[in-house]
Amino acid sequence: MSQSSWKDQIKKKWGPHSHCPICGKAMSTDKKFCSQNCRDNMVERERKQKKKGRFQCVFLIVMMVAMMLFMFILPLIGS
Ligand SMILES: [Zn+2]
Repeated sequence: MSQSSWKDQIKKKWGPHSHCPICGKAMSTDKKFCSQNCRDNMVERERKQKKKGRFQCVFLIVMMVAMMLFMFILPLIGS
C-alpha cells in the first residue's frame, strides 16, 4: 500500500495549495501570486501581451488593405 500513501503524505505535508503562475512556487490557495515581485511580473507580462495584440490587429488591417489594393489596382494595370 506504499504507492497510494505517498500522495497522502504529500497532501498532509503541504495541505491545500496552489502554485504561483509566474515562478511555480507552492503557496496558499487564497493568494494569486506568491510575492509582490511575481505580481509585478504578471502585470508586465499582461501589458506586453496587450501591446502584441494591438500590433497583430494593426498588421491584420494593413494586410487586408494591401489585399484590397492588389485586387482593385492590379486588374486596372493589367487592362
Ligand atoms: Zn511566484
